[in-house]
Amino acid sequence: MRIPMSCMKCPFELNTVISLGEIELNDSRIYSYKCTNDHLNIMFLQNQKYDILFELAIKAFQDGYYNQAVFSFMASLERFHEFCIRVMMFDKHKDNQQSNFFESFEKMWKMVKKQSERQYGMFISMYFSSFGKMPKETVNIKMSSAKKNIINYRNDVIHNGLFSNHEEAFEFGELVANYMKETVNVLRTELTNESIVDFGAKEQENIKLDFYEKNQNYSEGLSSTQTLSSYMSLALTEFPQFQSYLMSGETAFDQFRLIMQQEGLEYKSSKEEKDYKIISMV
Ligand SMILES: [Zn+2]
Repeated sequence: MRIPMSCMKCPFELNTVISLGEIELNDSRIYSYKCTNDHLNIMFLQNQKYDILFELAIKAFQDGYYNQAVFSFMASLERFHEFCIRVMMFDKHKDNQQSNFFESFEKMWKMVKKQSERQYGMFISMYFSSFGKMPKETVNIKMSSAKKNIINYRNDVIHNGLFSNHEEAFEFGELVANYMKETVNVLRTELTNESIVDFGAKEQENIKLDFYEKNQNYSEGLSSTQTLSSYMSLALTEFPQFQSYLMSGETAFDQFRLIMQQEGLEYKSSKEEKDYKIISMV
């Protein structure tokens, strides 16, 4: 999947309309690319992985790929649990200035990285230790359309090749969205919204630091940040209605293009425009 990108220097240095293009998603959340005017951009994508995966699921649903939508909704849910673990642990360690939380976390995470059941167990125990209550169990999230819980349904789709359909994929996504909404609200109220924002800021700082350490030929002054307006990022202020977001036909991947078209401006897709090139993916 490609995401919209703009050159941050064109408007300032050349006083021209922003150059836009699309580049492929990567895992590092840092993107380096050049615009047609040869400006080097280094951009940090603020959206969390679960947020992007959720958006991919919506896109797949809108395009009628219901099995792929279920895969991505589920992948989003698993990364959402990871995000919650990170935030809850960060909250417990934020006053400890002695150790680098992010470095220590990565070492610990390696031990559970390959096994989602271990990660889910860690989520339950962290949630219980942070809030003194149990989270809602995912096996208790029941689908009325398919008459089974979301975990069994996901297993049928992934392992037995069950063909999902419009009704079931929709309900699956809506149940996952509602579960995330309830959980985020617990995190917000029990830890405060500042903890989540603070985590995001520190995480960003850490990822950038790591990038510039590994790429010393780049200057830190080159970097900018971007947040795609997605279902989950909108949820930071107020959760949009799932059905209306899904039916709008717009996802975070489409918004730049739609805005440009509405303004009557040229939109350059990297598929058509070879010189909007990516110089390296890190
Ligand atoms: Zn430029």
